[in-house]
Amino acid sequence: MSDAELVLRSRRVITPEGTRAAAVAVAGGTITAVLPYEAEVPAGSRLEDFGDDVLLPGLVDTHVHVDDPGRTEWEGFWTATRAAAAGGVTTLIDMPLNSIPPTTTVDHLRTKKEAAAGQAHVDVGFWGGALPDNVKDLRPLHDAGVFGFKAFLSPSGVDEFPHLDQERLARAMAEIAGFGGLLAVHAEDPHHLAAAPQLGGPRYADFLASRPHDAEDAAVANLIAQAKRLDARVHVLHLSSGDALPLIAEARAGGVRITVETCPHYLTLTAEEVPDGASEFKCCPPIRGAANQDPLWQALADGAIDCVVTDHSPSTTDLKTDDFATAWGGISGLQLSLPAVWTEARRRGHRLEDVVRWTSTHTAHLVGLDARKGAIEAGRDADLVVLAPDETFTVDPAALQHRNRVTAYAGRTLHGVVRSTWLRGERIVKDSEFTGPRGRLLSRDD
Ligand SMILES: [Zn+2]
Repeated sequence: MSDAELVLRSRRVITPEGTRAAAVAVAGGTITAVLPYEAEVPAGSRLEDFGDDVLLPGLVDTHVHVDDPGRTEWEGFWTATRAAAAGGVTTLIDMPLNSIPPTTTVDHLRTKKEAAAGQAHVDVGFWGGALPDNVKDLRPLHDAGVFGFKAFLSPSGVDEFPHLDQERLARAMAEIAGFGGLLAVHAEDPHHLAAAPQLGGPRYADFLASRPHDAEDAAVANLIAQAKRLDARVHVLHLSSGDALPLIAEARAGGVRITVETCPHYLTLTAEEVPDGASEFKCCPPIRGAANQDPLWQALADGAIDCVVTDHSPSTTDLKTDDFATAWGGISGLQLSLPAVWTEARRRGHRLEDVVRWTSTHTAHLVGLDARKGAIEAGRDADLVVLAPDETFTVDPAALQHRNRVTAYAGRTLHGVVRSTWLRGERIVKDSEFTGPRGRLLSRDD
């Protein structure tokens, strides 16, 4: 490590080969070597020793709605990326909707990048959107560096991002498969949703009944059938229904290229504990009953679910009314993902290495960033988190960096305190003190 400018040392460094005492050498923002803890530090290198705090790779959150420009009062690049940094997320990939314009043409992508420029405290990439009428824009967006495409199979919640029927889904999927791209889908079937009782009002049980398991299961089954027919690579966004897992496992065993993510709120919150009128817990698909959680955790353990991402999707407080039918659907969790998932994971006997795999290594791989992100090893960016995994804190919404501080996690006591976060070898936050924005706007690597 003779060329190291910086050496970051800990008794517990999470590497692809396991957790061990190690010294991480950094030069030019890149990890140049991972050496034994005792390795001699070259004269002129700066040394930081974190003792027993864990050093892990920064999280790569591939599902974040930044809402900027156009709905910047909901969230923005400045606030979202500070929240990310505070929570140990060093890369986020912004979803194509809830901003105005949505990221559905190359022009709109340029507008998004202009909004993000100079605002990003962490690295930011972009998804494109597949709409009923923009098939011609997909290839140019791919060439312009988006990491994949998102589509809805049922109404998205915003008028400017209409959903695809089965025929249009097939058309978009064929186009994207033609250039080797990735199609990520919000999988709830509109016919099953229309057939479910739509009572509205403040009762969570009524909201849950309006978004049944079978809407997800049917949509996943259709997605699998289309992906198989077109030999396309597809990704199931925010899976909530444990019932869909056998279908997915069978498809994978049969060679269908399908990956799956779930979210902290499905893994850590249950329908039984949502108070009536508490729409900070509203999201689609919904948080389901406690019995649904075991299959999701089991699927993470055995690899049937690849990733855990936040689906951070805030709005202003006035849209979080007590009527579940009309309140904004989206949960704010970007800053809390790591401690929320870790708290439940440790209770269930999983290791921090597992959490790193689900939230960093696999998400980086999903979007093709594994040459640079998602692990502590030579050649990758020195994007790192220093975590006190056994320390606890109680979630105080006022302490969050999100623009709107409504959160389903308020008042919970969580394990895992982020001491500092590092982006390409620069410490970007420590004890809630931030440096200026050093994030880069990322493009997909070919
Ligand atoms: Zn989303």
